[in-house]
Amino acid sequence: MDAAQFPTPPADSGDFADLIEANRKYAETFEYAGFDGVAKAGIAIVTCMDSRIDPLKMLGLTHGDAKIFRNPGGRVTPQALEALVLGAHLLGVERVLVIPHTRCAMAANTEEDLRIKVGKSAGQDASWQPFNVVPDQTAALAEDLRRVRTHPLIPDSVKVGGFLYHVDTGLLEQKF
Ligand SMILES: [Zn+2]
Repeated sequence: MDAAQFPTPPADSGDFADLIEANRKYAETFEYAGFDGVAKAGIAIVTCMDSRIDPLKMLGLTHGDAKIFRNPGGRVTPQALEALVLGAHLLGVERVLVIPHTRCAMAANTEEDLRIKVGKSAGQDASWQPFNVVPDQTAALAEDLRRVRTHPLIPDSVKVGGFLYHVDTGLLEQKF
């Protein structure tokens, strides 16, 4: 479908005009039509939402190579496991990297800190909002790897590694 054929956008679409314009340029030289959703390099990455992390580039990977699941802290949540099970069985995943990082807000703050900060920004009570902070990153990473390795639907043939990404050097440190 050509962009010109899209139905009339919602009235507030101007909020995204700069990004839509950039997308139209992107689509002009789009090379991935008909591409399938398999992880071409057999890689799945679970990492933090932090904007300092470029998951593909930091591993020498490119478009189409990996399944990437991100959340605050880069934790192996039930949704991450859902992604990894699908990845392992249907999308060609053979190796899983779980990658938290240095100077992560989820490890540097307590739940209470974040509730106070968000509450101030929101101008209202945020004490009910869970943030799942990480008091001990190494212990959390060990637990996250255990969750992947012991999942009954993730086969033993899938290699699982735990790493810490150093945001000030770009280096990946293998922990497990
Ligand atoms: Zn983070």
